[in-house]
Amino acid sequence: MEKIRCGVLGATGMVGQKYIKLLENHPWFEVTFVAASPRSAGKSYSDAVKGRWQMDTPIPLEVSDLIVEDANFVEKAKGKCDFVFSALELDKESTKALEIDYAKSDIPVVSNCSAHRFTEDVPMIVPEINNSHLEMIPVQKKNRGFKKGFIVVKPNCSLQSYLTPLFALEQKGHKISKVILTTMQAVSGAGYPGVASLDMVDNIVPFIGGEEEKSEKEPLKILGSIKDGKFVNTEGIKFSAHCNRVPVVDGHTACVSFEFVDKNKKPSKEEIIKIWRAFSSVPQELKLPSAPLHPIYYTEEENRPQPRKDRDLDKAMAVTVGRLRECNVFDYRFVALSHNTVRGAAGGGILNAELLKAKGYL
Ligand code: NAP
Repeated sequence: MEKIRCGVLGATGMVGQKYIKLLENHPWFEVTFVAASPRSAGKSYSDAVKGRWQMDTPIPLEVSDLIVEDANFVEKAKGKCDFVFSALELDKESTKALEIDYAKSDIPVVSNCSAHRFTEDVPMIVPEINNSHLEMIPVQKKNRGFKKGFIVVKPNCSLQSYLTPLFALEQKGHKISKVILTTMQAVSGAGYPGVASLDMVDNIVPFIGGEEEKSEKEPLKILGSIKDGKFVNTEGIKFSAHCNRVPVVDGHTACVSFEFVDKNKKPSKEEIIKIWRAFSSVPQELKLPSAPLHPIYYTEEENRPQPRKDRDLDKAMAVTVGRLRECNVFDYRFVALSHNTVRGAAGGGILNAELLKAKGYL
């Protein structure tokens, strides 16, 4: 099969580097275009990341000699790739405008950036949860006069850890009304060089700008529906989030307490674990190359999940859940973990692109 040519915008950053690593030997996609800021433009990829390559494998040979282009000039990408992954660190308005420019130029955009997450005709996809939201793509193209291009985004990097287990329960009819979650988020989530080491060593920072709002609002769109060509948020479930930056390199952990709508019909602990272990969805049915075999792993060990020990499970694409127990205030509580730069960023973006390809959008 001829591979689809892809570009990576922000290819030199923390998420961009992870794309370059994960796309090496990808069965469907090959990296043919890399772009970043004007600071990196004109250099070979290996020169642009010299001294700041953060991956634990060498730079793939087929990318190391590619010349980095300035991501702000869409015309540089034309003819060099069939779609782009966007992992730019730019202000929101510039990111929004730039991603629209790529889509307008017939280059579909699979984005990690938050800029378009609430744009009313842009799907925000977790493939195991709301793959049906891709139906918005034809509407988006029509609204904006895009011919081949479109924009699809993925949500915040910690979201799948708590939302996937909650969604699995909702899908089985156990509707949830309230969720309180506390995240402990890895430093790689802040990009490179990220948080100053003097702020992070021997410390916890109880604030990550914008993160609590994203953690509370994004699930409502993802669990929502499409009505009259617009996304409508789900109603009846409320999230309250505390987000903390902790001295962990990779892997976001969430401690979650939740309450069911119907307290009289709440499932037992054993039923919940059974639902989680059996949960499977479209990426698994379609056998997408980056899909985990099981989206959720439940661990019985009382001191797990732990970032260092569990973040790489199943290609670092699974969510590990543990410590399910009764809650004195709500119904139950649990701990969940997922890899923020893989499942929460580049791996999640690649899974979105695989879904788009399998569904005929790419
Ligand atoms: P990062 O390490 O700071 O990398 C930022 C990238 O954007 C670099 O390639 C940089 O190029 C490029 N860039 C910066 N200014 C630019 C400009 N003016 N014009 C064009 N390109 C520019 O950030 P990151 O952690 O990889 O995050 C990238 C995006 O993914 C952000 O929107 C972030 O919110 C999102 N995200 C991150 C994570 C995570 O876990 N880290 C998870 C989910 C989503 P130079 O190297 O040339 O400066």
